[in-house]
Amino acid sequence: MTDLPKALRAVLAERSEVADPEVAEVRRAPDGTTKFALALGDGSVVEAVVIPMEGRTTLCLSSQAGCAVGCVFCVTGALGAGRNLTGGEIFGQYRVLVRTQALLGAPLNVVFMGMGEPLLNIPGIARAIELLAETVSPRRVTVSTSGIVPAIARLGELPRRPNLAVSLNATTQEQRARLMPLAARWDLADLLEAMRRYPLERGRRITIEYVMLAGINDSDEDARRLPRLLRGIPVKVNLIPFNPDPEFLPGLSTPDDARIDAFAASLAAANLNVTVRWSKGLEVSGACGQLRGRVPARPPARA
Ligand code: SF4
Repeated sequence: MTDLPKALRAVLAERSEVADPEVAEVRRAPDGTTKFALALGDGSVVEAVVIPMEGRTTLCLSSQAGCAVGCVFCVTGALGAGRNLTGGEIFGQYRVLVRTQALLGAPLNVVFMGMGEPLLNIPGIARAIELLAETVSPRRVTVSTSGIVPAIARLGELPRRPNLAVSLNATTQEQRARLMPLAARWDLADLLEAMRRYPLERGRRITIEYVMLAGINDSDEDARRLPRLLRGIPVKVNLIPFNPDPEFLPGLSTPDDARIDAFAASLAAANLNVTVRWSKGLEVSGACGQLRGRVPARPPARA
């Protein structure tokens, strides 16, 4: 841009970069789910996923290059903490997915359910939501948190407020502390209160994600406690049968179908809106962190 003053060009070159993440690997499952490992400028690798749904495609983006929350059922957690992504790096994932999958103009949902805890990177996701707003309404954007209680209120104050999903996975504080060590710093009762206070658009519900682990959080007692906990909060519950990974997550297994059905039926009988969501793209290491765990970090592409 030779029309800019030379001194300004020097500052811009020093402080900014114009680049999209680089595609390090792509895997496509028979159901159409396409998972990308994307290399950032410093060599970090993050995941982003395209999930075809009826009438609308969902893009799942990462907010951090790793995760400090350490959920025992998650490969990203097993890989450990990583840095926050900038708003540009998050938006860059969207750009790569839309360009490579020819999705420009297609009806899209965007979910922050990839690698990282989005609410430990509010500046990054707030900027990304701003950048997305030109093409994707915040009503079509969902931020999923493991339950960083003070940040839920901050998310609710954003000028472009997204939908909220909470990864709950437990029905007691002790169980949550075993499964999600960092998130359990905040008490379950405080988390439920933060959900009650979240300013929802009319007709909207908070999505509750509940990863089902055999013998850990799938008992009849859990199925009775969950509706009691959620009473009075507008929610829809997604039961997610655990996606096994013997290499990174040994010792955890998926409940059998009968147990999952009985759990879901019990929630439905208590008037909860419940759906069982089998992980899409299992054949391509579809769950969070599973592809990244198998693609090594790259040497920095840029200083
Ligand atoms: S499930 Fe989410 S919050 Fe938990 S370790 Fe994985 S990426 Fe982090």
